[in-house]
Amino acid sequence: MDALPDLHTHSTASDGTLPPRALVRRAAVAGVRVLALTDHDTTAGLAEAVEAARWVGVDLVPGVEISVSWGGRTIHVLGLRFDPEDEGFQAGLERLRAYRRWRAEEIGRRLRKAGIEGAHEGAVELSGGQLIGRTHFARFLVGRGLARDVRGVFKHFLVKGKPGHVASDWATLEDAVGWIRAAGGQAVLAHPARYRFTRSKRLRLIGELKELGGSGSGIEVVSGSHSRDDALVFARHARESGLLASAGSDYHGPENPWVDLGRLPALPEGCVPIWASWTPPPLLASA
Ligand code: AMP
Ligand code: MN
Ligand code: MN
Ligand code: MN
Repeated sequence: MDALPDLHTHSTASDGTLPPRALVRRAAVAGVRVLALTDHDTTAGLAEAVEAARWVGVDLVPGVEISVSWGGRTIHVLGLRFDPEDEGFQAGLERLRAYRRWRAEEIGRRLRKAGIEGAHEGAVELSGGQLIGRTHFARFLVGRGLARDVRGVFKHFLVKGKPGHVASDWATLEDAVGWIRAAGGQAVLAHPARYRFTRSKRLRLIGELKELGGSGSGIEVVSGSHSRDDALVFARHARESGLLASAGSDYHGPENPWVDLGRLPALPEGCVPIWASWTPPPLLASA
């Protein structure tokens, strides 16, 4: 049986560990017929993914996960089904990547001050010269034996109050949603339960998303990082705010066995799936 569409995945073009081609093949084997590649702040993996998807009969949706500063925090906004050739969109993403390159050097400097040499060079190497993120630093420090796992590195080195922390300066919500819409795409609030916002802050964020993104925008209700209760809470937010519901694993590779492709639970009752309006409706097309 076909699995639910998976509209949130990463490849080696950002901080995933499978190249786009291998990711698409694994998704196909897992029964995923509709897949979005949503690398952080880049669409560099799309061409390879589209090509691979053609061979295995997967419907590949252009995607991206944009880093946004909002309410004093970093949040993530997915863009889906945009035109990857749109110049304003690409210029916006390039600005974020330039900031990432500077931030990576700064993380390296800060870790050096804390007595850890070679972290920037090591992270760059692990990124394969593609987009650089904190995950690459985390993998490097695990390799150095400075933490047991990636989570441990974040906790002890990379978050606020720790030696390798750099305050972030990403896109505004208005910019990110603006780039996506101008390129003809739909904006989706990624893994909203992860932010641990109060209910009033959640409502403010969802309200702003709806205002900026219009009724074509959505909330990631089902996520690899959501519990069943989280999904129910955000299904309700989606219904009450008139936003569409999305689903995505946030797969980063086989190293995290607790998140895999093709295993997403169904959307809760009463949600309007974001893919229902896509033509041809992908689930019908593959039925
Ligand atoms: P960046 O966009 O470079 O700041 O890195 C954010 C990425 O790091 C997320 O997309 C996750 O893949 C990963 N990440 C963030 N926090 C954690 C954590 N506590 N444990 C493991 N990975 C994390
Ligand atoms: Mn990531
Ligand atoms: Mn994310
Ligand atoms: Mn992600």
